[in-house]
Amino acid sequence: VVKVPQGATVAELADLLDIPASDIVKRLFLLGTPLTMTQSMSDELIELVADDLGREVKVMTKEEENSFTFYDDPADLLPRAPVVTVMGHVDHGKTSTLDAIRHTGVAEGEAGGITQHIGASQVKINGRTITFVDTPGHETFTAMRARGAKVTDIVVLVVAADDGVMPQTIESINHAKAAGVPIVVAVNKIDRDDANPDRVRQELTEYGVIPEEWGGENMFVNISAKKNMGIDELLETILLQADVLELKANPNTFASGYVLEAKLDRGRGSVATLLVNRGTLHVGDALVAGMSYGRVRAMLGQNGQPVTEAGPSDPVEILGLSSVPAAGDEFRVFQDERDARDLAESRSLKARIEEQNKVKHVTLENLFDTMEDAEVKELNLVVKADVQGSIEALSDALGKMDQSEVRINIIHSAVGAISETDVILADASNAIIIGFGVRPEAKARAAAERDNVQIKCYQVIYKAIEDIDAARVGMLKPTE
Ligand code: GDP
Repeated sequence: VVKVPQGATVAELADLLDIPASDIVKRLFLLGTPLTMTQSMSDELIELVADDLGREVKVMTKEEENSFTFYDDPADLLPRAPVVTVMGHVDHGKTSTLDAIRHTGVAEGEAGGITQHIGASQVKINGRTITFVDTPGHETFTAMRARGAKVTDIVVLVVAADDGVMPQTIESINHAKAAGVPIVVAVNKIDRDDANPDRVRQELTEYGVIPEEWGGENMFVNISAKKNMGIDELLETILLQADVLELKANPNTFASGYVLEAKLDRGRGSVATLLVNRGTLHVGDALVAGMSYGRVRAMLGQNGQPVTEAGPSDPVEILGLSSVPAAGDEFRVFQDERDARDLAESRSLKARIEEQNKVKHVTLENLFDTMEDAEVKELNLVVKADVQGSIEALSDALGKMDQSEVRINIIHSAVGAISETDVILADASNAIIIGFGVRPEAKARAAAERDNVQIKCYQVIYKAIEDIDAARVGMLKPTE
């Protein structure tokens, strides 16, 4: 299947199908729709011509081209390794289990070679690979999922046989279920005298985690991470669960996937661990990861060894990004580095605008701190009062106040209740609204809350003056 962008011209289609453009022009003529080389074609026409030529095409919209739901021909999909996350209650043995697994699965000649930690690792058993992703907890797992990152095919739930189901066991189950990820249960610490693996099975049924032998859907394995018992069986069980899932990906395309973790390293710059979920990543590839971009300068495997490529389900550490992406960010390789930069820049621009729209406005309480880094130190006020006299009294008093540090501007004043319009004005001018003997209308109150505009209401002038004076020098303590 050849992917054709929507609105492709005759020449572009010829290029994609690798045939002379004159062939297509001829066919179009015979189909009764004569077009020249540079004219673009409708979706139907592209499909019709392709069909006529005995070729299969998929017309891609701009969104499809830019989205992460890439289209793959089923014929291009090949089996890939399962990606596993270990979860469970604290002290039930997650770390010990991962350690035991890594020791079992270390390929010969590599033994003892676990020197570096990149946040994920792979083990081999019976000639097949399993990828383990370290997430420090189910919160991280869910935070990443909330950002759309799919970095787990199977959850291994570790439950200590001497302790049974505990609060974080239940949380882990709920997080895995919410993500629709199957759970394999590792009942740990069976070497202990007080171990009661059957009680664990019994307790888990209450949370919908039911052993297959009891008619449920979950595979259970008894292990002792400490005594290295049952670890092979656990790995084999993970592979059985993976077989049920029929995990596949197209390795022969541009790579994409997710950032597992990233940091700024003094010597090496931005260092990111990526999990590839489609395609193959190579040294030299141009990519975008969240808001950063760059070329893969170097790639390191789980033991810190240089690698030249990483395929589906492979975790890899890369150098060369312009900045540090966030965990859970998508990454994607582009043919052209300029496209990568454009996407990264448009994303960061969008993020900046969103950030700006969230700005907190000045309040009397934060005035001093806000002013500290401001170029022009001024306080804008919108004043509403029940009588004109109050407005005049306030502006007189403010006029007498020391304004060498902060200039005070009344940008609007009027008699009447505080209205929505006052809030909109204050919002646009980063002003505080002061009311004398008046209250905000309901709409104004809602708008103020939405836009983070402070409204301060007073009954007496001197109290307002006192507050403004204190705010000016950073002495006003928040009251509410
Ligand atoms: P985590 O908090 O879930 O990562 O748990 P750890 O792996 O740090 O283990 C917590 C404690 O349980 C440690 O003291 C381990 O030595 C102990 N432990 C882990 N697995 C076993 C086991 O299979 N048997 C016994 N007896 N102790 C274990």
